[in-house]
Amino acid sequence: MANHCADCPASIGPTAKRCKSCAAKHKYRDPAAREKVAEGKRRSLAERPAQLAHLRAIGAETFHKMHAHMRVHGYRGNAKYVPPHRLEDYDKLRKKLGAGRALTLILEDERIKARRAKGATAPAKPPMTFEEQLARVAAGAQLVPAFKPRKTDPEFTLGGVATGMI
Ligand SMILES: [Zn+2]
Repeated sequence: MANHCADCPASIGPTAKRCKSCAAKHKYRDPAAREKVAEGKRRSLAERPAQLAHLRAIGAETFHKMHAHMRVHGYRGNAKYVPPHRLEDYDKLRKKLGAGRALTLILEDERIKARRAKGATAPAKPPMTFEEQLARVAAGAQLVPAFKPRKTDPEFTLGGVATGMI
């Protein structure tokens, strides 16, 4: 039987309690554990001032690059590509699927709608695209049990008499 992580549905080794990601989260939820790691880093960097200066420079550079980018593009990132009337949908999807996936879904959906609006004479409803199915799932669609046919009736009866009547 597969062993599962205590905090998420991931399957893990037979002796493990949690998957790697959840184990790290669990461990560092304890402020003392976080402080221990931070203290170790501080001590080790105190002995290597050149490395400390280097890391600080990288940190400052990243910070400045990030802010320069946000000044130019604003804080909404991908949202600038989203048609204004779809921003609400985009925000909902972004929270569930991340910005990149959300943008792809919205744009694909817009393309499909534009295509349908153009070809209003298109025959019957086309099957859902993979993206549409994903969007349905993202919007809360659930799996439902597949139809299972019940056992068929007996093929033979005793001389034409149903067995239930005997
Ligand atoms: Zn886990």
